[in-house]
Amino acid sequence: MARIRAVAQRIIVEKMEQAHPVIKNAVLAELLAPKRIVFIVNPKAGTNLQKHIRKSVEQHLDHKRFIYGIWHTEKAGHAAELAKKAIEEGYEIVVAVGGDGSINEVASALLHTDVALGIIPAGSGNGLAMHLGYGRDVDQAVRKLNNATVKTIDCGLLNGRPFINLAGVGFDGLVAKRMKGSQWRGFMPYFLRSVEAGLSYNAHHCTIETEDRTITGKCFVITVANGPMYGYNFQIAPDARLDDGLFSVVLFRDVPRWQYFAAIPASLKGNIYDAGFVEHFNARRVKITSEGPNFVHIDGESIEMDGELLFEMVPKALKILVP
Ligand SMILES: [Mg+2]
Repeated sequence: MARIRAVAQRIIVEKMEQAHPVIKNAVLAELLAPKRIVFIVNPKAGTNLQKHIRKSVEQHLDHKRFIYGIWHTEKAGHAAELAKKAIEEGYEIVVAVGGDGSINEVASALLHTDVALGIIPAGSGNGLAMHLGYGRDVDQAVRKLNNATVKTIDCGLLNGRPFINLAGVGFDGLVAKRMKGSQWRGFMPYFLRSVEAGLSYNAHHCTIETEDRTITGKCFVITVANGPMYGYNFQIAPDARLDDGLFSVVLFRDVPRWQYFAAIPASLKGNIYDAGFVEHFNARRVKITSEGPNFVHIDGESIEMDGELLFEMVPKALKILVP
C-alpha cells in the first residue's frame, strides 16, 4: 500500500511539474502538507500507557506526513470535550487511545464532521480496533496510521446516544456493569466476569420490533451490532458490516446455560450463528421492551436506561482511518 502510494505520488508530482504554476503549487501544497493529528489518551485505560504512547508516536509516526499533539483526559467525559476542541483547532485526525468506550466518546464528537477518527487500542476489549485491523499492539497501531485510508461508516443511536461498535441489553449489559469501575483490566477479569454473569443472569421476557418483524419471548441477550465483535475475537455478529446502513441484530433464546458456554469456540471462529439458540436478522430500526431491569451497554460501557430501548441506524455518519 505504501509503495503504491509513493509511486502514485511521484507520478502526480511529475505531471504537476508540467502543469500551470498556480494549479501546480496549490495541488502540491495540498498533497505534501503534513496532516494535523491529535492523540487523546485516557490514562486510566491502561497502565504505563501515558509514557508509552509518547515514545511510540515519536518513534513510529511518519513525521513528514503528520504534525501531532498528545492530549490527556483528566475526568469522565473529557475525551469528548477534547475531541470538540481538536475540531475547533483545525485538526484533521483525532485518535482515540483506549478501548471501545474511549472510542465511543471521541467518535460521538466527530459525527457528521470531516475530521477522521483513528484508533490506538489500549482497552480491555478493543473489538472495533481488532475488526479494522489495528491489531492489539500500540507501536504497530501507530505505524498503521501512517498509511491508513479514510472510510465513512455508519453509527447507531440507542435512545439518542451514539454507538459505533455494539450496543445491547441482557447478559452482556450485566458483564459491562460488573466491569465498570474495575481497576483490574485485561482478558482474565473480562472472562471471569462473563462466566460469573453467565451463571447468574436470568433471561427476561422481551418484545423486539423492527420495520418488518415482531419477536417475543425470553431472551438471554439481544445485541444490536454495527461492528461484528467484542474484544478477544469474540464475534457476536460475524456478518455485521460497518458501512451497509443496517444493523445485525443477534439474540440468544433462553436455553440451558451449558449451551451458551459450549458455543464459545464457535463464536471465536465466527460461527455463532450455527448455534441452535441464536436468531439473527438485519434492521434499520429496533425497538426493545423487556420485563425486569434493563442491563444495557453502549460500546461495552454500562448505561442506566429504563423503559423502551429504541435503536436507530445513522448511515455514513463517521469518517474513520482504516489500516
Ligand atoms: Mg451494518
